[in-house]
Amino acid sequence: MHHKTRVRFAPSPTGPLHIGGVRTALYNYLFAKQQGGDFILRIEDTDSTRFVPGAEEYIRETFDWLNLPFDESPAKGGDYGPYKQSQRKEIYKKYVHNLLDEDAAYIAFDTPEELEAKRAEIPNFQYDASTRDKMRNSLTLTEEEMQALIKEGIQYVVRIKIDPDREIIVDDMIRGRVVVNSSVLDDKVIYKSADELPTYHLANVVDDHLMEITHVIRGEEWLPSAPLHVWLYRSLGWEKHMPQFAHLPLLLKPEGNGKLSKRDGDRLGFPVFPLQWTDPKTDEVSSGYRESGYLPEAVINFLAFLGWNPGTEQEIFSLNELVQAFSFDRCSKSGAKFDVEKAKWYNHQYILRMSDHDLAELFMPVLQEKGISVSVEQAEKVVSLVKERVHFISELWDQSCFFFVAPTTYDEKTVQKRWKQETPEQMKQLSALMAGMDDFSAENQEKTVMDWIQQNQLHTGNVMNAFRLAIVGAGKGPHMFDITGVIGKEETLRRLERAISILQLH
Ligand code: GLU
Repeated sequence: MHHKTRVRFAPSPTGPLHIGGVRTALYNYLFAKQQGGDFILRIEDTDSTRFVPGAEEYIRETFDWLNLPFDESPAKGGDYGPYKQSQRKEIYKKYVHNLLDEDAAYIAFDTPEELEAKRAEIPNFQYDASTRDKMRNSLTLTEEEMQALIKEGIQYVVRIKIDPDREIIVDDMIRGRVVVNSSVLDDKVIYKSADELPTYHLANVVDDHLMEITHVIRGEEWLPSAPLHVWLYRSLGWEKHMPQFAHLPLLLKPEGNGKLSKRDGDRLGFPVFPLQWTDPKTDEVSSGYRESGYLPEAVINFLAFLGWNPGTEQEIFSLNELVQAFSFDRCSKSGAKFDVEKAKWYNHQYILRMSDHDLAELFMPVLQEKGISVSVEQAEKVVSLVKERVHFISELWDQSCFFFVAPTTYDEKTVQKRWKQETPEQMKQLSALMAGMDDFSAENQEKTVMDWIQQNQLHTGNVMNAFRLAIVGAGKGPHMFDITGVIGKEETLRRLERAISILQLH
């Protein structure tokens, strides 16, 4: 029977989502949509000691911003809910009982102190087939002793019973076949009576099964858990319906040595979180891609390439194109080095691909903040002239402020270099020439000024550099006549006049 592809992103709300987690979610999304399947959000919050307020909301906001909608989620609901593990307590209990009834799991009363003592006594102690008969559990206690302890209200855990020396096979779409001997595994705790909650491993497997997840796509750090999960599937009688696994390569530090951490971001000045995050305990603020001026489409394109490549030269992919092109065959096994310059390059590329109108819309609030009131049409003209020079919307102002505000000071170095003895006289003539122009389009200005330069045998560079200094206040900016075309004749003449009067004594 052909099952609909169903994948899930299953974060634990223990803090802001790491950018690596966003990549995991993206690959889930790409694969699901390529297969015409469903992309599900499941919140794995069974470890109440690690719960951080606001973390779940943060996850939702991240995927809203990136425009990667879930088909089912705690907020949206769906046929397989609830989608928050803390709301599924009763479901897990049933499977814990099944495992106990089947002798596939057992109850253990060992206190932390007792476990500590065993660790001190037995070198490389592991709670498993070789040691469980020396511990305090339902395999060594009589039924009466057990019932007495439970009646007394003594807390216990349930451990999975792993038979020794069995072959466990994990077939991974990226790493291939991984074979593990069950003797290396320990009898992991799968349930705690204290909070009546399963641990991550059991909840994860039960939910993947009940939610009919077909592919488990997650970070490489979960690969060591996979054999245990396979064992759980086996113990629960679900082996035939096991999802396919894909463990994604780690995101590495830019230098390539070790996992990318928040400290690397702080050290090298780039965000490792999608959105800005304020730690509810310490009030410490961590920067986010959104607040740093990254466009969501650029972040998606950039993340897609951290661990996958299309096998061609093409680097710019829309989300739709990524959905078409994605494949696990082209995911790398080795870690992906984080490259912030590439992230900036992508942002630049997406800025260039935006329409001038959309760019202007993003620029308008910046202008308003600076107290500049112009029309969107005006802002459109300006962004079209400077967008090639920016990586972020926030850089537009620095590159274009002279369109909106006349210079009051003049860059000293440029003055030394560009404002020569003959300059004031030339600028006066230029001013008169421009005052006489009826057609003030960039093209006509250029033609008229160039003719005038030629007729008077002036030096083009000298004239134009001084002209730029007068209009911009420095030696930067786009094509001169594009600038004057936008600011208009009156403003051009005013600026020329002011530069002549301020700089002529120089
Ligand atoms: N809750 C785990 C996490 O936070 C899920 C791992 C998995 O996808 O199985 O990453």
